[in-house]
Amino acid sequence: MNTKLLYIKEDLSNLDELEPIARAMDKGQVVCFPTETVYGLGARYDLDEAVKEIFRVKGRPQDNPLILHESSVERMAAYYKDWDKVAETLTAAFCPGPFTLIMEKADDLKTVASAGLNTIGLRIPDHPVAHALIKYLGRAIAAPSANISGRPSPTNGSDAYEDLAGKVPYIVVADPSRVGLESTIVSWVGGKLELLRPGGISAKQIGDALIKAGIDPLDLGFKVFSMEDYEKESKPRAPGMKYRHYAPRANVHIIKGDNLEDKLSYIKEHIDQGSIGLKPGFYISIELNKRLSDNPWPVLTFEDTADHHAGSHYLFTAFRELDREACSDIWVENLDFNGLGQAYMNRLEKAACKTLRDPSQGPHL
Ligand code: AMP
Ligand code: MG
Repeated sequence: MNTKLLYIKEDLSNLDELEPIARAMDKGQVVCFPTETVYGLGARYDLDEAVKEIFRVKGRPQDNPLILHESSVERMAAYYKDWDKVAETLTAAFCPGPFTLIMEKADDLKTVASAGLNTIGLRIPDHPVAHALIKYLGRAIAAPSANISGRPSPTNGSDAYEDLAGKVPYIVVADPSRVGLESTIVSWVGGKLELLRPGGISAKQIGDALIKAGIDPLDLGFKVFSMEDYEKESKPRAPGMKYRHYAPRANVHIIKGDNLEDKLSYIKEHIDQGSIGLKPGFYISIELNKRLSDNPWPVLTFEDTADHHAGSHYLFTAFRELDREACSDIWVENLDFNGLGQAYMNRLEKAACKTLRDPSQGPHL
């Protein structure tokens, strides 16, 4: 298949070129497009064969549901069975944005995107290109991240092309994704609010929004994870609960430590033990890199801000770049839980995991 690239200009003056792409989607074609989280692989949610083609192209297990993307909260609400104050509060606070809400689906909603579940996840991308494509289509786009299953999600046009060239008819290219990690997924089912996947909106932001609306998150069973909870959770409760995902070809290792000194000794220790790999590469903060003098190996750096935006923004890009440098191992600095830290550590842990997915453990997140 010949893959055409459509470049959207920075001033958005050629957004109307998305219209023929929407018409191709009407005919069942699958299209890669940019969002603020990562690039997505989309099809009309109501065309079963087109949605099945997404699973096929990605090599995604059939039991792993896809998220639908809509253009307004009003339209989004129509896909669910019920709508209440919690849904209203969360969508008012975080839509459009990197926030997916899973609730029971409307009785008449038929889509293979939900993989046979009675729930559905929707979000509203905060991206002019994704928004225009949904508008031209006039209905929801079912879209997971545009990576081949198990790989790091693409956050720019060339990374999307690397995975999808020859497999889809169109890749729409705009700026690199602003967030660089997938959306936060929250499930509000059976009176229980659960954070299924940390992402661009932090658990603390969700808790704060509920409290501001007079709702106590604890009454909904919603827990804002602490570092302690996280450490408990990251020890697998059963085999197969943790498996490798978001991963480059190289082995991924986490540089552990609470401060620069600890992290530096962690690296030195592994160098001394000879466990650093044949050709190590590094993804670390500028501050840590300054302390690693005479390092002969490839290093990509990020500016470590309080909200960890830069570290998160470049994580998947760095994985792919260091793969292109043929690194055997990638050493990545850990971050604390502030801002995007929880989402960053979640992706990093999964990329560093040695266990492959056991499909009997249900959908992976
Ligand atoms: P992706 O867009 O590739 O990051 O994948 C979407 C994620 O959302 C997957 O991990 C799915 O398992 C999860 N997901 C989507 N819909 C549901 C749902 N109804 N229930 C639970 N998880 C869901
Ligand atoms: Mg994904």
